[in-house]
Amino acid sequence: MIGEVIKRLNGELPATVKLVAVSKFHPFEAIEEAYAAGQRCFAESRPQELLAKVKRLEEIRAERGEPDYMSDIEWHFIGHLQTNKLKMVLPYVSLVQSVDSLRLLEAIDRWGAANNKIINVLLECFISSDETKQGLSEQELTNILSDDTVYANVRICGLMGMATFTDDEEVIREDFQRLLDMQTTLHDWIGESPNVRPGCNELSMGMSDDYPIAVSMGSTIVRIGSMIFGERS
Ligand SMILES: *Cc1c(COP(=O)(O)O)cnc(C)c1O
Repeated sequence: MIGEVIKRLNGELPATVKLVAVSKFHPFEAIEEAYAAGQRCFAESRPQELLAKVKRLEEIRAERGEPDYMSDIEWHFIGHLQTNKLKMVLPYVSLVQSVDSLRLLEAIDRWGAANNKIINVLLECFISSDETKQGLSEQELTNILSDDTVYANVRICGLMGMATFTDDEEVIREDFQRLLDMQTTLHDWIGESPNVRPGCNELSMGMSDDYPIAVSMGSTIVRIGSMIFGERS
């Protein structure tokens, strides 16, 4: 079942769109099933859960005596990240999609400097009309981009956003359009901000219920959970 959905999505998505399987709240066995169907990139939204899964994989490798088991798995972080939890997340992920404050960006940069790593990030933007969803406002995005401090240990790769939870396609399109407008703002800072470099073109938009709209509007990363793994308990 999991494998079938992965294969169907891969057949359907353009080659320019990266499928990220959102495995939060699902057991490691579900990840193994998706991996067996060819999925390599998984996303988690809670530091504790990410770390537990990373450790589980290490355990399985030790049990089997196969240090290379699932060695090309890739993790993204997509949830709210507190600055005191960075060490639970940053050693293990290839991309933090959910940088939603200058404070967090600064903290990630400091961690990167201390650990001699460059951390790939997306800036998470607030585009929906749902009160509960986090992300930067246009003003906060501009404040980050106009900050001329050099954050040498982060690489801003693009933007992420979540549309309003609704069946109204028009509302969803308007939300995604806001993210496209914010991407234009980001691109305007190439060569102006020391932290914005050419190629910061990733646009992470689209989830189980709205990814076809997101893809039609130029998404480069879709984050799909329940459609692959079923409802979360
Ligand atoms: C949970 C989550 C998803 C996946 O949502 P589904 O509707 O299950 O596909 C995508 N993005 C973020 C940021 C999430 O927290």
